[in-house]
Amino acid sequence: MQNETIAAIATPPGMGGVGIIRISGGQALAIGQQMTNQTLTPRLAQYSVFRNAQQDTLDRGIALYFEAPNSYTGEAVVELQGHGGIHVMQRLLQAVLALGARQARPGEFTERAFLNGKMDLVQAEAVADLIASRSQSAADAAMRSLNGEFSTVIHTLEQTIIGLRVYIEAALDFSDEEIDFLSEGNIASRLDALFEEVCLTLDKANQGKVLQEGVQIVLVGQPNVGKSSLMNRLLGQERAIVTEQAGTTRDTIEESLIIQGIPVRITDTAGLREADDLVEKAGIERTKQAVRAAALAIWLRDASHLQDKKPDELSLDGGIDFIEVHNKQDLCQQDLCQAPPIETNGVLTNDVLKISAKTGQGIDQLITAIAKRITYQHHEESIFSARERHVQALKVVKFHIQQAVQCIQSLATSELVAEELRLAQNSLCEITGEFTSDDLLGEIFGQFCIGK
Ligand code: GDP
Ligand code: ZN
Repeated sequence: MQNETIAAIATPPGMGGVGIIRISGGQALAIGQQMTNQTLTPRLAQYSVFRNAQQDTLDRGIALYFEAPNSYTGEAVVELQGHGGIHVMQRLLQAVLALGARQARPGEFTERAFLNGKMDLVQAEAVADLIASRSQSAADAAMRSLNGEFSTVIHTLEQTIIGLRVYIEAALDFSDEEIDFLSEGNIASRLDALFEEVCLTLDKANQGKVLQEGVQIVLVGQPNVGKSSLMNRLLGQERAIVTEQAGTTRDTIEESLIIQGIPVRITDTAGLREADDLVEKAGIERTKQAVRAAALAIWLRDASHLQDKKPDELSLDGGIDFIEVHNKQDLCQQDLCQAPPIETNGVLTNDVLKISAKTGQGIDQLITAIAKRITYQHHEESIFSARERHVQALKVVKFHIQQAVQCIQSLATSELVAEELRLAQNSLCEITGEFTSDDLLGEIFGQFCIGK
């Protein structure tokens, strides 16, 4: 129900000089005028006494009215700025709710701003990212997205695709000339240029994501090889549960740390072995998801018995970047631990790193190896904040452009090229929210804090 009037405390809980109640929707003005007993004029700061329906005095402060559509949400908005104490704010909010508003869900103000066309989805997400920024550079990147820099890049790509589609579809009408049209260099070179732009954007989005979220790294391997011990080693503190019994890390555990200046999130996974009890099965499913989402996997093996096979998860979707690590070197006689490196279907086998989570042997080399794999060339001045969702969508765009290029090379029909471009364009539209499912919207806005 788009026109229900919503209200929330917009300032963080706790004490502060000022606390703000934000009201948005058709009844906002009426509620604001009842609370203040004044006629509210748009954009005028009006000093008022705030009273509830029973005329009890609750607080005094400033009322501000923004007339639709010139407000954050695009609807009528009233802000009551009172004293920033928890009880004062609660009493004001209760009075506003009693007058007919309902409590806003997290992110609902921004969701309305999106639905009313005040901003696109990328910008709405940037609002949340800006609020959640943990570093100055992350805040700068979120501000760039909020200012529309990321959206502009996406729109430019979209325009290029539309241009190509128009060209190709117009040519489809002259089907006898189709062969000439496809083998002519123009369309191929335009596609190549587009492909490069998409790759560049994907690269930047990846960096933006890392800036905001940290690089995802996942620890995989059989139970008892020492994943939790290694995690603790890396964290420099005992935080994951370590035990002698196989399969103790039932669920995935995520920790954040900084590796050579790069923010990283490491996930310790449940064992990858086949399990029949339900809890462990759920854990295994989450392991697969964690591996899919990770930029790098660390495949940990027990150097004292290296019979385990390479986990299937590492071969998903054409292969995941991983480092093979042999743990428990302290248990090894030099010669006993020289297992042959695992054959990976002709693909170059990763260098094996030898460590001991127990003694700390090889940990520095491992950290250096991790840093080497996850370092991006940062161009911080041009990075915009981005999310996993954007990166995934751009990967789909890249895939379809690649397909289109191949269609041209193999002299496939123009219809196929046009179809690939259509799919690429759809995926771009998902990023800015031009077409997006309600489920996705719920997921995105549910992550906001209340009052934003
Ligand atoms: P996980 O199931 O893969 O998370 O393995 P844990 O970290 O729980 O470790 C399983 C067992 O191996 C524990 O008893 C650890 O103390 C032991 N362990 C882990 N790393 C080493 C190591 O480098 N050397 C030795 N000797 N034992 C280790
Ligand atoms: Zn564990």
